[in-house]
Amino acid sequence: MNCHKSIDEVYRFLDGELGSVRRSRIEWHLRKCDGCHDAYAFEERLLLLVKRSCSAENTEVPPELFDRLRALIHQETTEGASDE
Ligand SMILES: [Zn+2]
Repeated sequence: MNCHKSIDEVYRFLDGELGSVRRSRIEWHLRKCDGCHDAYAFEERLLLLVKRSCSAENTEVPPELFDRLRALIHQETTEGASDE
């Protein structure tokens, strides 16, 4: 599994959409690959934030909220770093 594919799978992994075979494949890749593990940790954190802020009202998370939070966290993470 390459990194590009892996990132794609991370989203589904966190959404619980993957079957056991693909899940263990992504877990294996995350263990070996720091870059993808960082991306995974980032998405996991994002998901937790979104769930926490939405759980009171409904379970359906608006995609805009995801996008906004992602941009926000990304900004925070890359603050002080050089331009990407
Ligand atoms: Zn990777």
